[in-house]
Amino acid sequence: MKFVNGHKIIYTYIQIMLLLLILTGCNSKKFSLSKPLLGTIVNITVYGERKTAVEAINTAFTEIERIQSLFSPYDNKTDLAMLNREGGQSMVKLVPEVFDLIKQSVEISNATEGAFDITFASLSKLWDFRLENFVPPSSHEIKEKLKYVGYKNILFHDATSEVGFRGKGVRADLGGIAKGYAILKAVEALQKHGISSGFVNAGGDIQVLGKNAGKSWVVGIKNPSDNGIIGTFALSGTDSVATSGAYERYREYNGKRYHHIIDPKSGYPADSGLISVSVICSDPVLADAYATAFFVMGLSRTSKFITENSGISVILIDDKEKIFVSKALEGRVEFKKQYTVQYF
Ligand code: AMP
Ligand code: MG
Repeated sequence: MKFVNGHKIIYTYIQIMLLLLILTGCNSKKFSLSKPLLGTIVNITVYGERKTAVEAINTAFTEIERIQSLFSPYDNKTDLAMLNREGGQSMVKLVPEVFDLIKQSVEISNATEGAFDITFASLSKLWDFRLENFVPPSSHEIKEKLKYVGYKNILFHDATSEVGFRGKGVRADLGGIAKGYAILKAVEALQKHGISSGFVNAGGDIQVLGKNAGKSWVVGIKNPSDNGIIGTFALSGTDSVATSGAYERYREYNGKRYHHIIDPKSGYPADSGLISVSVICSDPVLADAYATAFFVMGLSRTSKFITENSGISVILIDDKEKIFVSKALEGRVEFKKQYTVQYF
């Protein structure tokens, strides 16, 4: 996830009050509002009666702002920052939400054999993609930090909501999962206000609610090499999608591209042959984390994973622009004619 410092946000913090009023029958109208948050533009769109819809959207944005603060890697006053400062010396008591998301992250590490691993953060300073004059780290520097990477270095004391680290150099960063969590909480806020039709879209990571005026919501699949769309797929109910791509955040040095998804085994940007991974499932937190994990795991490990785990579907694009799609999505996806698609 691209959390961005307040002053680094390139967009002026204008609330783009786009209250689109599109009549869809009775008193239900479509309301939409976008704000720069989570390092991207977040759009929330709902169908409903005006007062309820506006309140629902505002509450959902307040939730996203709260979660952005809670998990920001740039704020040294958060529980996460405290854990990173003190976790190597003693167990640190965390607010339940932070404890729970760390716990869930480690469960996902277990499920993905360490492809998803929040302790990649020990390497974060070496791979700082915010730097204009980015220089890739030396193999020696990577080797030094790699010692601390490993989700088994995270220790839990469930009864007291305490977390600690095995070793002083261990760090944790929830950038690979917090965006999904923010979407989950925003959609929950909409539901609490009685909204049953709408979506939360954080820069392409989406959870929908219900249907779009009786039909499925249709989402474009981005071409990783340009801004075009290679196809579309349909979402409804509480479907979510998250995409991890090598093109999302990267720096170039001596003609070589270094992107932001780190393989915790090597300490280098993942080089699995995939350039884009979209995960579709009913939980935006899992969609976000699994997209990052599958990007590291590559095609064959991912296809094995999804045949063993029902309820998770993927659209994968490899570095030769070949497209691989879960069988479960057949009939829900449509690609432009020039693309060959293999279902598995
Ligand atoms: P995403 O765009 O969801 O794939 O998330 C990428 C972000 O996840 C990066 O900017 C890092 O903050 C974090 N990250 C990078 N590599 C990993 C990894 N192997 N496991 C967990 N989080 C990661
Ligand atoms: Mg992710």
